[in-house]
Amino acid sequence: MFDRPIAIRGGSLFDGTGKPPIPNSTIVIISSKITEVGSVGKVQIPTNAEIIDATGKTVIPGFIDSHTHFILMGVRKLTTVDLSGVRSISEIVDKVKSRLTELPTGTWLTGHGWDESSWKETRYPTKADLDPASPENPVVLTPCYGHLMAVNSVALELAKITKKTPDPPGGKIDRDPITNEATGILREEATEVIDLVRPPTTKETQLSGIQKACEIVLSKGCTSIHELESTPIDINTYQTALEKGFLKIRAYVMPEARFTEAMLDGLEALGVRTYFGNEFLRIGSVKIYIDGSMGAHTAVFFKSYADEPSTKGIFAISPEELKHRVLRAHNLGMQVAIHAIGDRAIDEALNAIEAALEQEPRKDHRHRIEHCEVLTEDQILRIKQLKVVVSMQPNFVGEWGQIGGMYEKRLGSNRYKLNNPYKKLLNEEITIAFGSDCGYCPPWPFNPMYGIWAAVNHPIKESRISLEEAIKCYTLNGAYASFEEDIKGSIEPGKLADVTILSENLSLISPENVMDAKVEMTIVNGKIQWRAE
Ligand SMILES: [Zn+2]
Repeated sequence: MFDRPIAIRGGSLFDGTGKPPIPNSTIVIISSKITEVGSVGKVQIPTNAEIIDATGKTVIPGFIDSHTHFILMGVRKLTTVDLSGVRSISEIVDKVKSRLTELPTGTWLTGHGWDESSWKETRYPTKADLDPASPENPVVLTPCYGHLMAVNSVALELAKITKKTPDPPGGKIDRDPITNEATGILREEATEVIDLVRPPTTKETQLSGIQKACEIVLSKGCTSIHELESTPIDINTYQTALEKGFLKIRAYVMPEARFTEAMLDGLEALGVRTYFGNEFLRIGSVKIYIDGSMGAHTAVFFKSYADEPSTKGIFAISPEELKHRVLRAHNLGMQVAIHAIGDRAIDEALNAIEAALEQEPRKDHRHRIEHCEVLTEDQILRIKQLKVVVSMQPNFVGEWGQIGGMYEKRLGSNRYKLNNPYKKLLNEEITIAFGSDCGYCPPWPFNPMYGIWAAVNHPIKESRISLEEAIKCYTLNGAYASFEEDIKGSIEPGKLADVTILSENLSLISPENVMDAKVEMTIVNGKIQWRAE
């Protein structure tokens, strides 16, 4: 049985192409496709159509998030407790206690993100704090800066850590000075002992994670995601999720070749290339790393960090190794996506792509640089010349871009001006695909509208882009980044019916207030998958 056609009538239409909005629009959806688009009165609505009144609202293509850690976001939401922003040890204990009421006995609870520097207690939470709240479940908590764990007695028992256990090489087990009992604080290599006994995430949990993550992103108007670094297990889980009907959005799944070349061997053995799959699940690009993060001072720059003059960052793999992996992936017919944040790392990423193209020219490669946060004018021109797609996360600008924020601290006041130069990139007709990095960077909740807000209100005025441009970066350009711009990413006849309706008319809202527009409805493949209560 066929669903009734849908007609969305009266909304202000930002169609994803960057064109000015159509103020009073009608969109007709039949089955999975958009069949007609135009002004009210100019479009014939099928007589049996379900009419959705969008008067006073905005209609956009479903968001395409080009950089997610989607399974991880869902799994973390289900099995962990978020400790960012907690202000005391008792608040941590309360959060652990209430989270455990939702989990079966014996399940491991992990928590992440505390920062004790602002607490009145100048110490870490210990097993003495955690035990009364967690008598039956192992609990493992980590601070936002990593490097240590606070665990409860159940976890210590499972890891067989007793007062007789010696400190492992490179690690330290904190002990009570009188009884010599472990306090529950494990530092550096001592945390490995817990990692060894903690069960890996099961496929069932991953499947539940995909379902949870679908709920989260659909409620924020997102209809497609790019999953950034996928293991064979992840890819297998995606296929199962598709078969079971759990995958409610479209996924472009990127095999990772971060630590080894094993994935490249596998792709070569199988003969599978980028774009293999269907409209809901495809094999994407090979993900490779060249540097780290600015937060950890490991993104690689030509000059030292302003707030840590002893370092210019750390390469994750050598530039030679990067060249080798990029060339190999390129020769296998894969798109590559290189994580590169600092200007030096971006240079090496461009060198590797250039070298691969010189050896084996390919017209429409669409090789990507992920993050691409600090870049010079010369690099912008090289990106244009090499036709590289940049995959950027405007929510980083929202979080770290203010004067006095993390970018300025790390980069100093001059180099700071080079961060995320959206306008300059668009002026050179470079494709920017927007994403969130959700799953890895959870202090801010998932919300593409936050990214849109940050891009149109960039703290550096010359880097701001228009609302139409920002929406295009979060829709049609994301489709381009996965070779799918002919089938999705804009509201045009013949495209897949992935459509989001926002509560306000964005044409009438000032740039500072675009976040007032909330998601009211999300349509995927012609079906209403989410609507606001
Ligand atoms: Zn990421």
